[in-house]
Amino acid sequence: MTGIDSLRNVLELERRKGYTDKAVIGGLDKYLHKQAGQIRQSINNPQLVSGFDELNLANSNYGSYGVDERKRWMTNVLGWLDKIEKATKTNRSQKSEVRSQKSVVSSQKAAAEPRQNRREGLDSPITVIKGITSSVANKFARLNVRELRDLLYFFPRRYVDYSRRKPVSELIEGEDQTIIGTIWQARVATLGNRRGTEAIVGDKTGNIRVVWFNQPYLAKSFHTNDRVVISGTVGLFKGHKVFASPEWELLKDKELIHTGRLVPVYPLTQGLYPRQVRKWTKETVDGYVWQLGDFLPSDIKTHCQLLDLPAAIAQVHYPDDLAMAERARGRLAFDELFLLQLGVLARKRDWQESQPGNAFHVDQEVISRFLNCLPFTLTQAQERVLQEILTDLKQAKAMSRLLQGEVGSGKTVIATLALLIAAANGYQGALMAPTEVLAEQHYTNICGYLSQVGTQEPGSEPGEGTIRCYTGFLSRPLTIALLIGSLSSNEKERLHYKIGQGEVDIIVGTHALIQKAVEFNKLGLAVIDEQHRFGVLQRSALRQKGFNPHVLVMTATPIPRTMALTLYGDLDISVIDELPPGRQVVRTKCLEPQDREKAYIFLHRQVSNGRQAFIICPLVEESEILEAKAATTEYERLSREVFPNLKLGLLHGQMPGTEKEEVMRRFRSGELDILVSTSVVEVGIDVPRASVMMVEGAERFGLSQLHQFRGRVGRDKEQGYCLLISEKLSPEARERLRLMEKVHDGFVLAEKDLELRGPGEFFGTHQSGLPDLKLAKLTDLRSLELVRQEAITLFQSDPNLNKAEHQPLRQQLSRAWSRGAEWS
Ligand code: ADP
Ligand code: MG
Repeated sequence: MTGIDSLRNVLELERRKGYTDKAVIGGLDKYLHKQAGQIRQSINNPQLVSGFDELNLANSNYGSYGVDERKRWMTNVLGWLDKIEKATKTNRSQKSEVRSQKSVVSSQKAAAEPRQNRREGLDSPITVIKGITSSVANKFARLNVRELRDLLYFFPRRYVDYSRRKPVSELIEGEDQTIIGTIWQARVATLGNRRGTEAIVGDKTGNIRVVWFNQPYLAKSFHTNDRVVISGTVGLFKGHKVFASPEWELLKDKELIHTGRLVPVYPLTQGLYPRQVRKWTKETVDGYVWQLGDFLPSDIKTHCQLLDLPAAIAQVHYPDDLAMAERARGRLAFDELFLLQLGVLARKRDWQESQPGNAFHVDQEVISRFLNCLPFTLTQAQERVLQEILTDLKQAKAMSRLLQGEVGSGKTVIATLALLIAAANGYQGALMAPTEVLAEQHYTNICGYLSQVGTQEPGSEPGEGTIRCYTGFLSRPLTIALLIGSLSSNEKERLHYKIGQGEVDIIVGTHALIQKAVEFNKLGLAVIDEQHRFGVLQRSALRQKGFNPHVLVMTATPIPRTMALTLYGDLDISVIDELPPGRQVVRTKCLEPQDREKAYIFLHRQVSNGRQAFIICPLVEESEILEAKAATTEYERLSREVFPNLKLGLLHGQMPGTEKEEVMRRFRSGELDILVSTSVVEVGIDVPRASVMMVEGAERFGLSQLHQFRGRVGRDKEQGYCLLISEKLSPEARERLRLMEKVHDGFVLAEKDLELRGPGEFFGTHQSGLPDLKLAKLTDLRSLELVRQEAITLFQSDPNLNKAEHQPLRQQLSRAWSRGAEWS
């Protein structure tokens, strides 16, 4: 609270000087304008913050007042200072106790330079920060950090705890520790056979050798008698303790950011280094966080006991201690979920209030004829879901339904029937899939289902654009078309025309379906497969293509109910929670690296028996480029050394879309025996002959994702196998992976995943249109109901966020609901 203390000192002095505005050079206003942000930031209690905001010190006008006015102003401000000091006293005494035990240089903080409140707007490019050149900015852009605001919201992944300070004599081998000492000597030295820096650092209790490999240039930074802070792990070299390549920081009048505290660890990309990034985030937080203000209404903050936003941002980067880091995270996670809820509520309202939907007539005759032609009977779950959908379709209100069901649970049959109903009512139906291969697959299946009894028009084969089916269900033939990006522009144009004329009944496609050029004649039903790839924006884009069509969203990712309510609060939910009878469980086994050879032999044998296999390469966090590289290397190694006589294919995210599609196509057609892939391998892809899914670095994937991978094999009557290879694991990590062997219910695994990794990880952070969930975790899910209630209450009191005090919230909402999405 140094900011508050010095503010009090200044004000007392001003009072003693008889309100002459002589207490500080340049006048009180200048001082206040400069300090207000920092003072505000040091207040953790939201109630006090709003009191502080009312004082409006950042825009004070003291200089222009007469003496009486100045007196009144002074009494007011000092009275408020009393209040805040009282309120923080208890808090402070508790905290300082903790600090004197744990933290290194609390006195250091008092000596920190006064923070400079900087005026460039938060939407300024990050290049306004000293040292961030445009080439550095390009690197940040890869992490989606472009503006100052992005940098404030660029959160550390974790912290290293360097707050434990030790005298040199008490350093313990193998632990993260910090010393503060004096440099006795520093020089360039040959370490091993490379040049590096060597220093001897000591305190009253002893000396220790410190080395930095490959960094000879560091020697220049150290001078004899400099005071230095060293943080890192202590090792042993020839029986002597040594710090090897530790973090270091010269002890000057600055706040420590690399050592002696909880040090943030940021996600990095090639060419960005931890020390630089910390320097820049620190400068940004110190200089700009005050500009954030706070968009949350203060009654919500009080009610939910949340930190003020600038304080939360400052603390999430450079926390005082772990408890503060957790409080900061709690506040920011609240924001994520709250904004998500508000947006979802608004969307639901918009849809319900927009034009009425189209009530379909459901002809029982059409349905039973379709079902009778299937080579199987529907499962009970399919029956139930079908009824839910039919009930929706009969309403004059547009359906908004999420259909969840495991891979192979039979969603496509249900969707096909819904599309048929639309056609029977004289409407067009569309099915949108995330990739061409999946779209083709759906097209083939739908054509297959619909032509069971009827006949296909001669010469028209699936995959050629359009076919006409005499289904026998309807009195007229149905036209089904495939619209994908790789069609020639001529074909596309022709298809667009036909769609516009209403000559096509069912259109299956990719993103190509929501392009401007596509004008439906009478879109009545839109089915969207693999929802999480699309997100809300595409959903509404497709919705806008029709006269408020019914929308059915399908996903094979089991989403626990709590999460579904939040993420898809705008949708009703149906679940197919049962697999068709006779479906085999994929036999799953966790293996260690030394079992790899045996696994290869197994794969080889499967391929000899006419089967195919996937090999998934480890996830490389934060870098698709590195991941692609690793997969390429693995592919080459496997092709050359392990399976020289088999046909292997490679799939990764850096390949152009057409190449990816081509490889998938070749694998599906059986031309390739083994597909080596990163995690991009298509969800939902059907390769009937694939029987083995081998996952390298399995510990790096979430359980849900592993379950998705596993769903790729054993789709036939044949037994499927999933081999999970992991490096050395902690007992907990092994326990977690072992769940895969025992549990085959995707929902159970998803719950487990959420609990262990949080929703951000679960969904991936970059789903289009939805606000990021970077910090929300399951612990927040428990309080999700609270967040929902707050959102609902606010929404009811001010549905359009028109009230003046809700303007910052409104702004934040449209920002969170993504670039391009308009808050209406
Ligand atoms: P999903 O889209 O949910 O992954 P599909 O609809 O593609 O599942 O169905 C997977 C396979 O199971 C298909 O070959 C389909 O014909 C078959 N199938 C669907 N429902 C049943 C059922 N009730 N009984 C037997 N087989 C079924
Ligand atoms: Mg499917």
